Amino acid sequence: MSKEKQRRQALVYHAKPQPGKIKVVPTKPYATQRDLALAYSPGVAEPCLEIEKNKDEVYRYTAKGNTVAVISNGTAVLGLGNIGPEASKPVMEGKSLLFKIFADIDGIDVELDTEDVDKFVETVKIIAPTFGGINLEDIKAPEAFEIERRLKEELDIPVMHDDQHGTAIISAAALLNALELSNKKIDQVKIVISGAGAAAISCSRLYRAFGAKAENMVMLDSKGVIRKDRDNLTTQKAEFATDRKIDTLEEAMKGADVFIGLSIADIVSPEMLTSMADNPIVFAMANPDPEIGYDLACRTREDIIMATGRSDHPNQVNNVLGFPFIFRGALDVRATKINEEMKMAAVRALAEMTKEPVPEQVNITYDMTRLTFGKDYIIPKPFDPRLISRIPPAVAKAAMESGVAKAPIQDWAKYEEELLS
Ligand code: NAP
Ligand code: MG
Repeated sequence: MSKEKQRRQALVYHAKPQPGKIKVVPTKPYATQRDLALAYSPGVAEPCLEIEKNKDEVYRYTAKGNTVAVISNGTAVLGLGNIGPEASKPVMEGKSLLFKIFADIDGIDVELDTEDVDKFVETVKIIAPTFGGINLEDIKAPEAFEIERRLKEELDIPVMHDDQHGTAIISAAALLNALELSNKKIDQVKIVISGAGAAAISCSRLYRAFGAKAENMVMLDSKGVIRKDRDNLTTQKAEFATDRKIDTLEEAMKGADVFIGLSIADIVSPEMLTSMADNPIVFAMANPDPEIGYDLACRTREDIIMATGRSDHPNQVNNVLGFPFIFRGALDVRATKINEEMKMAAVRALAEMTKEPVPEQVNITYDMTRLTFGKDYIIPKPFDPRLISRIPPAVAKAAMESGVAKAPIQDWAKYEEELLS
């Protein structure tokens, strides 16, 4: 399809038959006078009074517990940059749509007209009573780190900045599986990370939690290798600064086992790939164009295990494998946070399910004959019906075990049945 045709289709899709992608639908009867007297005055006063007595009852009598705010200020939208709150709205509505179709969560998009960290945090805190969880989205670094850190600390509902943790969770699952296929150990591999933004920092932290060694990592930003002796490093970049006296990507790639790209298109050359260790793992995730093209990379190294952010190649690192299911699990035990244990549980569950037989339905959806764990299938596909019954329970269990679940699940079989219904 031509670019122009695609552009027009996308615009019509958003404009017709009614503008936008989501709407609100009542969940209770509303046909009779009696119904209305219950839905609104005078009946509505009863749940108000119950909640006044005990705030937790808001979860019993309102939609709070199934509602997640998708909040952005439009400062780092897709690959489009700082396009402002209104222009970010289609993306946030899109995220709400995904919450709904994958996990039956009501996502409400909220676009804030501020780039000020204090105002942003204050506003989210003020509107938080409405929501069961907060998905922060497309906020530029380093502000995004501070906004998320403070909201996690100050709110008692789950908060997650998906651009940081979504990518980290999915790519960590892919990395564990790729390492298994190449017979390498995470605590021994040399890892090059191109990019030092929201996604790269969070990925690197999660890989470290799984055993990757800081001394085996080299991170680069737009100025080159992040060395300890460089001036004016942000605290996040300083965390991954290297002692090695190297400056360029070319030098960093020599002998490396893993390349993680969360930067910009076309900065990795075939020569750099050739200089990597045996069975190199290359996740070139810059969107829409990766750090090196999929076909070029595979032509250059037969032994490569390759992933990108794109849907037109195998191994797409796609956040939709994470956020709907992670919030589902968190909401269902009324977790007060999304903590490291919960993220790591999601990673393990994603990695494990990739290795099990794939339902025929998935092969059909993706027009594949037989998807099986291997170089071209290291992470599940988004339309895999097992995701909803596997990831939320893993996340919910981790929330319970780590002591952040306010409404622990007792009957797991019943819970899994509910997830599938
Ligand atoms: P971000 O916060 O804006 O960070 C971009 C980073 O790239 C910055 O640290 C920047 O350096 C660095 N950079 C720019 N040019 C570079 C170069 N020539 N070499 C090395 N680093 C360079 O953005 P983000 O949210 O982290 O996203 C980064 C990229 O990853 C985007 O392309 C995004 O689409 C992609 N991404 C993909 C997925 C996915 O596949 N699922 C998910 C998230 C993000 P400075 O710090 O010096 O400015
Ligand atoms: Mg995003």
